[in-house]
Amino acid sequence: MISTNWGVATDTGLVRPDNQDSLLAQMPIFVVADGMGGHAAGAVASRLAVGEFQAIASTGVQPTVEAIARAIDSANERIAAEALARSVSEGMGTTIVGLALVTDRDQELWLVFNVGDSRLYRLWEGTLTQVTIDHSEVQELVETGAITAEAARVHPNRNIITRAVGIDRHPAPDFWLRPPEPGERFLLTSDGLTEEVLDNDILCTLDNEPDPSVAATRLVEQAIAAGGHDNVTVVIVDVVAPSEGPDTVDTARNPRAPIATEFLEPSGGPGGTDKGPRL
Ligand code: MG
Repeated sequence: MISTNWGVATDTGLVRPDNQDSLLAQMPIFVVADGMGGHAAGAVASRLAVGEFQAIASTGVQPTVEAIARAIDSANERIAAEALARSVSEGMGTTIVGLALVTDRDQELWLVFNVGDSRLYRLWEGTLTQVTIDHSEVQELVETGAITAEAARVHPNRNIITRAVGIDRHPAPDFWLRPPEPGERFLLTSDGLTEEVLDNDILCTLDNEPDPSVAATRLVEQAIAAGGHDNVTVVIVDVVAPSEGPDTVDTARNPRAPIATEFLEPSGGPGGTDKGPRL
């Protein structure tokens, strides 16, 4: 298994009464979930979702893509059942964005997955790339060319998401598989960061602060300094070269060029997890 260092930070912010974000950082799974729903329902939803992934991480067995897809379905069912039990009428649900080291056809690969507008970015050789695509109204408007990305940042509907775990009958996650690269850094974050801090400023912090815990704390501080209108949660994962074996030493000196991320078709549909997403 590849080695990772990670750091996390989360804060309620300056406006919201409580923190409805949840996070998991436990090899081999990292997740940020941004809950929604009144009367603490959002916090319950995001914690239920994270719990499904924690159960997998705690087994110590490297998961498959199918296991992650099943965990998303299971989180969806548990949150929907909890909403019924609590008679929550307004949408009780959560976004999720995750990074999991999975076994796929004898290969060790990163699986990136998301539902909603929490994001995963990748830092590689000084360039920050947003890997996930928001499931949001403004993202759809940007894609059709109706508005620019800059206009999306201030659009009145910018917080309306088009997919959520616990609310949709079958929330369709997006999946990407990619080989781990020593030297790469991942950022998983709720929109409390990306609503407040521009990508360029996020890049500056990620590129200049080698310690992932310090970098995570700095990013949360930046979001709060910019207004802290929402809960903000940050997980940073650094891929480091394994410390043993001649091959791994060579890899560390000569990191391979980044390999294009492969997009997986969402599994979708009832019982879709049995089929599982495939390359
Ligand atoms: Mg949020």
